[in-house]
Amino acid sequence: MKRVLLKLSGEALAGDKKFGFDEATVTVVANQVKQLVDQGIEVGIVIGGGNFWRGRTSETIDRTKADQIGMLATVMNCIYVSEIFRSVGMKTNVLTPFECGSFTKLFSKDRANKYFEKGMVVFFAGGTGHPYFSTDTATVLRAIEIEADVILLAKAIDGVYDSDPKTNPDAKRYDEVSIQEVIDKQLAVVDLTASILSMENKMPMYVFGLNEENSIVKAISGDFNGTKVTV
Ligand code: UDP
Repeated sequence: MKRVLLKLSGEALAGDKKFGFDEATVTVVANQVKQLVDQGIEVGIVIGGGNFWRGRTSETIDRTKADQIGMLATVMNCIYVSEIFRSVGMKTNVLTPFECGSFTKLFSKDRANKYFEKGMVVFFAGGTGHPYFSTDTATVLRAIEIEADVILLAKAIDGVYDSDPKTNPDAKRYDEVSIQEVIDKQLAVVDLTASILSMENKMPMYVFGLNEENSIVKAISGDFNGTKVTV
């Protein structure tokens, strides 16, 4: 593996609080990503916004505006996590698909590649920059653009199941499942738009539990414990 794209949900940053940031949780993530970077792996990061806001949070305001708030939430998340990463000794940069003044830099593939070459972790904040999309879609899109080898999906659950293990005690976890089967059976991996994009562009995903010890490091070692989504 040369280059990976790690997706963290917004909730993952909040720890048990479910809202905002939990520094201890993010520091654990930072120390794991540092191990990958120290091994010479280039790491891109996409973060959700659910610890602050989702487009569907409000039924009152216009969806486009609500989604803009959601995208800005992901920018806050990336600035925060980027700073925690710096505090443990990594070099980082935050890219957005829209201008945020001096807070971030405007995304381009060339710029991302330049930062990767400098050994930086590159944060892709602000989603796709468009409403009615999600950070799942942004994850697959950026992974394809930067020609990542794989997407690492760190989730609250430790893989892909054939039904919801919270409601079905007989739910079975897949070691491996094709993206076609994910789409056909509507398994919970990423949303449908993101799944189709992953299938059409042959971008594999490894799904695993963020809470499991050292799971991000293990995801690209022989020790992987989760589900490989093949394309
Ligand atoms: N969002 C958007 N376009 C994007 C990415 C995100 O409009 O390309 C907004 C959308 O409102 C979403 C919120 O940002 O609800 C947070 O993103 P995330 O993917 O975490 O949301 P979720 O999938 O949980 O709704």
